[in-house]
Amino acid sequence: MSANAISADDFLKIMKNTLEVMEANEEYLAKLDADIGDADHGANMVRGFKLVKERLTSLENPDVGKIFNTTGMALMETVGGAAGPLYGQMFVKAGRLAKEKMEVKKRDLADMWEAGLKGVQDIGGGATPGGKTMVDVLDPAVKVLKESANNDGITLMQTLKKIREVAKESAKRTIPMLAEWGRASYLGERSKGHQDPGATSSYLILRTILDTLNGEVGVKIAKYAESDGGILEEAYL
Ligand code: ADP
Ligand code: MG
Repeated sequence: MSANAISADDFLKIMKNTLEVMEANEEYLAKLDADIGDADHGANMVRGFKLVKERLTSLENPDVGKIFNTTGMALMETVGGAAGPLYGQMFVKAGRLAKEKMEVKKRDLADMWEAGLKGVQDIGGGATPGGKTMVDVLDPAVKVLKESANNDGITLMQTLKKIREVAKESAKRTIPMLAEWGRASYLGERSKGHQDPGATSSYLILRTILDTLNGEVGVKIAKYAESDGGILEEAYL
């Protein structure tokens, strides 16, 4: 990695580390989904990223677009439930803006994730922030990327650190929300008081970019609140 770009090689590592992170947090994501859904979110993410890793391993010198497209297609294929098609769209749509690029910079990332978020909203029926979904984390992350793309004073690494902070805070902010989308919405008022699983996996995906660039595999939520699933302690794998 150069200081101001993320290379295709970096993204191969990021996607593989995302599998490690999903495996390490499978139980936690299952608990979050058990509270307001059907408890399969952890297993869904692990199954998806296993196939992602397998598919990426067989590519020869792929560009960033190819890596994202392969990731998205694998997620759509394997992950049952809502999250597969949603994350699948995110990566496929983002990848279209990285065709033939062997590295991407802040501006590219901002454009990619903006398109990815739009993909999620298009296929999911149009969730906006406040509805207790992954959009509650993805939307503020895109805002950070766009702000930083327009500001030469902020480095890529500073941007990714800011995303880590904002994404974690945004996942936590889903706790009191009423779920308006997906399975959790069937619970009505009873969906309040729990952190959204998809918002949480989005936080994990986004921060794994930074963690990987920093030479870490990724993070494990070492301790969480039984009551609302809020994150209490994190540790590196
Ligand atoms: P399922 O709900 O089908 O069991 P998962 O458990 O894998 O699928 O994923 C649930 C997560 O998907 C939720 O926590 C939420 O963040 C996200 N989600 C569900 N429906 C939507 C939607 N329409 N738009 C955006 N995100 C959604
Ligand atoms: Mg579920």
